Amino acid sequence: MCYEVFVRSFYDSDGDGIGDLRGLIEKLPYISDLGASCIWLMPVAQSPSYHGYDVTNYYEINRDYGTTEDFKRLIAEAHTRGISVLVDLVLNHVSSEHPWFQSALFVPGSPYRDWFLWSPAARRVPGWQAEVWHRSPTSNEYYYGLFWGGMPDLNLGNPAVKEETKRIARYWLEDMGVDGFRLDAVAHFFEAGDTVRDAPATHPWLRDYSAYIHQVAPGSFTVGEVSGSTALLVPYYPDQLDTYFEFELADAVLDAVRNSSARGLTAALQRVQRDLPQGRWASFLRNHDQTRTLTELQGDVARARLAATLLLTLPGVPFVYYGEEIGMTGSKPDPRLRTPMHWARAPAAGFTRGQAWEPLQPDSFTANVAVQDGDPRSLLSLYRQLIHLRAARPALGSAADVTILTSGSDAVLSYLRRANGKAVLVIANLSGQRIARPTLSSTDAVLPPGRYTAKPLFGGGPETSLRVMRDGRIRGWIPVATLEPFEGRVIELAP
Ligand code: CA
Repeated sequence: MCYEVFVRSFYDSDGDGIGDLRGLIEKLPYISDLGASCIWLMPVAQSPSYHGYDVTNYYEINRDYGTTEDFKRLIAEAHTRGISVLVDLVLNHVSSEHPWFQSALFVPGSPYRDWFLWSPAARRVPGWQAEVWHRSPTSNEYYYGLFWGGMPDLNLGNPAVKEETKRIARYWLEDMGVDGFRLDAVAHFFEAGDTVRDAPATHPWLRDYSAYIHQVAPGSFTVGEVSGSTALLVPYYPDQLDTYFEFELADAVLDAVRNSSARGLTAALQRVQRDLPQGRWASFLRNHDQTRTLTELQGDVARARLAATLLLTLPGVPFVYYGEEIGMTGSKPDPRLRTPMHWARAPAAGFTRGQAWEPLQPDSFTANVAVQDGDPRSLLSLYRQLIHLRAARPALGSAADVTILTSGSDAVLSYLRRANGKAVLVIANLSGQRIARPTLSSTDAVLPPGRYTAKPLFGGGPETSLRVMRDGRIRGWIPVATLEPFEGRVIELAP
């Protein structure tokens, strides 16, 4: 599991109200206990904004967060705990305050002019919500900035820009010691006429960039942000980034627990398995751009527990956004999706001894790490238990495929995960009603014939057994006597 951290909101070590790298280092034991094998840091490079997605210097740590030395210590201490570190790499655009763009604007004949995109006239792009061409303050031209005027897009087709992006990757991999990158806004790297996403030139560029990254650091890992459906991800494989976030699957998991229906999730899983290389997607429930899970589910903790159970037992590389494991809430505007972490029943929830940079959520006194820590029934305990279970069981943690079993009820979702001759069954009640004697079958051969003991790994219940017929199919098996509302169970099948 990879844990997404917004440094500004995680833990403040020095009382200025802003989370920082030393604070994050102090909280590494928490991340380690959670079972994370990886953290993804939202941008930590120099930036004038609170979120950091508009960089002014790719080679400097944001002063609010600390120093290069702090960062190197973070890497060393994370590695000591077996946790790898990914940083957000924002290459689609820079800050309009970046010296490259300032030079392009103000220096006649600047070599940086062609690092950006210019037009004599502003055009609107059909289907895009905002203006993409912005008036230059120094000429009658317009520059391209897909997200806003403060973020001019880099001209990634310019070989000099490409070289620079490689230098940036090398710096973070070799000098700073990171283990890989989360690449921001990958779908928007190139434009073609009115096409502002998934332009064909994106793919050879990513192929070359990914090859470079793996040449510099053979064991490194990359995950790209390409929002939208599974179909839109297909052209980004097989030889570009290692993985991409699976937005369609994330929505399907939440819809399944919200609507008490397995149908949409089953279809989404089948598409992912059919169309993407095995296990090469990053699964998640919500990220820093989206309404938090518990808010999305209208405060229903039972549904949030089940959504987490599905996330942590399905294939893919799961990512968990900080605070999701304690059921933090939040909806837009963006800063409210990224509020300070709730650590304790204390002023500012123990996030800072000063004044937090952003007000906390109203439930910080009741929904926090300290309250949930020792409670075996808490959401935090569920996350810990399942993350550790996933790490310990190759059938859950490997990229191996998933086989959906049929149950005759749209409210029951059940699937089998297999690796190295071991199998794990997950069965979930998506509804608010108790379900008695759920009955499972498979349409194809799923296991070698024989008798299996069915041992509960999560959710309790007695040990039972399963007999697999000579054709390898499961027929009419009742793995548990009852499933409580929104209950998920994980059962190991051993021959
Ligand atoms: Ca601080």
